[in-house]
Amino acid sequence: MTPDKRYGGLDRFKLLASFLVVAIHTSPLASFSPEADFLLTRVAARVAVPFFLMVSGFFILPAYLFERSADSRAPLRFLGRAALLYLAAAGIYLPVGVYAGQYAGIGPLSILCRIVFDGTFYHLWYLPALIVGILLVYGLSRRLPFGGVLAVSLVLYAAGLFGDSYYGVIENLPGISSVYAAGFRVFSYTRNGIFYAPVFLAMGAGFGRSPRFFPKKAAAVCFSACMALMAAEGLILHRFGLQRHDSMYAMLPLCMLFLFPLVLSWRAEPSFFLRKVSQWVYILHPLCIVAVRGVSKLASLTDVLVGNSLVHYAAVCSLSFLLSACVAKLPVCAGKKDSQTGRAWIELDRDALRHNVAVLRSLLPPGCRLMPAVKADAYGHGAVLISRELSEMGVDAFCVASVREGVELRKKGIKGEILILGYTCPEQFCLLRRYRLTQSVLDFAYAQILDGCGKKTRVHVAVDTGMHRLGERCERLDEIIRIFQCKNLKIEGIFTHLCADDTRSPEDEAFTLAQGQAFRDIVSQLKERGFACPGPHLLASSGLLNYPELSGEYARVGIALYGMMSTRAGTESSSVSLRPVLSVKARIALVKDLYEGESAGYGLRFVARRDTQIAVLAVGYADGLPRALSCGVGRVLINGCEAPIVGPVCMDQTLVDVTGIPDVRPGGVAVIIGRSRSSVITACDLAEQAGTISNEILSRLGKRLERKMIAGTAR
Ligand SMILES: *Cc1c(COP(=O)(O)O)cnc(C)c1O
Repeated sequence: MTPDKRYGGLDRFKLLASFLVVAIHTSPLASFSPEADFLLTRVAARVAVPFFLMVSGFFILPAYLFERSADSRAPLRFLGRAALLYLAAAGIYLPVGVYAGQYAGIGPLSILCRIVFDGTFYHLWYLPALIVGILLVYGLSRRLPFGGVLAVSLVLYAAGLFGDSYYGVIENLPGISSVYAAGFRVFSYTRNGIFYAPVFLAMGAGFGRSPRFFPKKAAAVCFSACMALMAAEGLILHRFGLQRHDSMYAMLPLCMLFLFPLVLSWRAEPSFFLRKVSQWVYILHPLCIVAVRGVSKLASLTDVLVGNSLVHYAAVCSLSFLLSACVAKLPVCAGKKDSQTGRAWIELDRDALRHNVAVLRSLLPPGCRLMPAVKADAYGHGAVLISRELSEMGVDAFCVASVREGVELRKKGIKGEILILGYTCPEQFCLLRRYRLTQSVLDFAYAQILDGCGKKTRVHVAVDTGMHRLGERCERLDEIIRIFQCKNLKIEGIFTHLCADDTRSPEDEAFTLAQGQAFRDIVSQLKERGFACPGPHLLASSGLLNYPELSGEYARVGIALYGMMSTRAGTESSSVSLRPVLSVKARIALVKDLYEGESAGYGLRFVARRDTQIAVLAVGYADGLPRALSCGVGRVLINGCEAPIVGPVCMDQTLVDVTGIPDVRPGGVAVIIGRSRSSVITACDLAEQAGTISNEILSRLGKRLERKMIAGTAR
């Protein structure tokens, strides 16, 4: 499986867009043709900021806009980061503005308006507009469906147009123009504040939810046509002198509607670095303009460096890029490196988890909610970490395998329903009540024991429709009825488990549909006899992907939530794009040179056929690396290259062949599961090599591995 290459195109175009913004502020073609410069900087370059906004909407908003649950929290983390960035930028530019006399002779209220709406320097209006826009779109989405949010944003945009490019149209209408005049006392342009950003944020969010692309050619043709129309629009408005400003055109949202999918279809490696650099080019380029002018003056090079607009532009771009690359490499900006501690560890990608939740929610049949399976320490990911994230995303029902797993979650503050899918011994029934856990009724005999303990217990009744594992047999309707008659059982659900739902081959399909039918029959017969029969559920991951029509009130999704299916084939053939949440990494403890003929590892199982460099990794089978991967069956990634495992995997160490891999050093990092540069090893790959399924690989990852949630690849 390869990482999502869509983001690479976005990252690269973002840099281009930031250079377009520099163009707006430097007029590169002014020395040659004012008309060409107008078209470049006052029309074409106007796609840049909407593009930034759409990228933010694309990454940040879908999880909040399209999830069915109402209580997912506001995108606080992102807003916090944006506010911090604004503070940092204001810290740089406020003194510049004061020095330039921008704040001379205006009152404190006006200064406040400047800071809240206009930013502290001519380009910084963007950050407050982004923050206000996200809050607005998010707020609207709590009350309106997506179409409504989009409609309101468009109306705001239209209102903004008449304070911007179309100001001349209303300038002489006394009523309206006084409204705008009042507005302009608060903000200098209508692109600031609430008019401009929301529509692009909402459009980005729309693409983030269903990145179904326009065919590339069609998008390219439509984009070109829209750009031509926007150029015509700009020229006409300019010709008649209607523009108060030139940020907003009627054609601009349409241009973006086609530009964005075009960029999404640009497949390239995602780059965190470029993402950061473009952000800093945007923030720092006005400073670079001042610097280039200042230095030219001092060095008496003004004629060369500033006099020729294109040279000036190139100088500002180069300086901005260099400065931004340096800033992006600063430790505070380069992101947290603290996950790379310890000998071997697990990194969890928060964005991937959010993405998977959003994707799976979009597949849910009507009336169905997620009840994620967080058993076996959330398939090795860390049940508490994962459940906390899920709670934040509005998930309020979980399933686990054992009472201990349920108690652990409660002790760590997880709210909502927690269903125990497996056996609980009578001695522990008291824990069910103390921790408000819901027990599965495994069959009629088990129901009698549970009922006999004399206290009310919340339960879901398990029905066996053909797997012949847990559950009362569906043929034994009388026993099932007697379960429902137990007076101490507070029945809140009834469920079955599918066991051949991982394909739609004729045999599997016949069996699965028969299971579904048997389950429905039981439910309807119970209802006929007057039992309420709440909360029927039967879908797990494969069921939700392959047989969503079987429906139910919950989907007990496990493996898909973690970003894959049980096998590589199953993952690759699934119609949805899930992103693996977990990576396993280990330190290189030592690097060693072996002469030809020397052996390594237990049982002299590896013999160097040539001079060989090996690395000793601080990870072993006690951490969950299967011993079946010994002796060249498995491999790890180091600096993007594959290093085969040599000799048997040991309990705490593993040897790998790193001959020819550049830059392998003690303290370096080896990727066991996950991505290293452009190479990826998935849990499914490991499973295939070890002759098992990804579920087993993941759920056996050892307790010794530290688990850390990180922001992830998308932002
Ligand atoms: C583990 C389990 C699930 C989750 O299965 P996935 O295939 O990982 O989605 C659902 N239901 C039951 C009864 C389970 O035991």
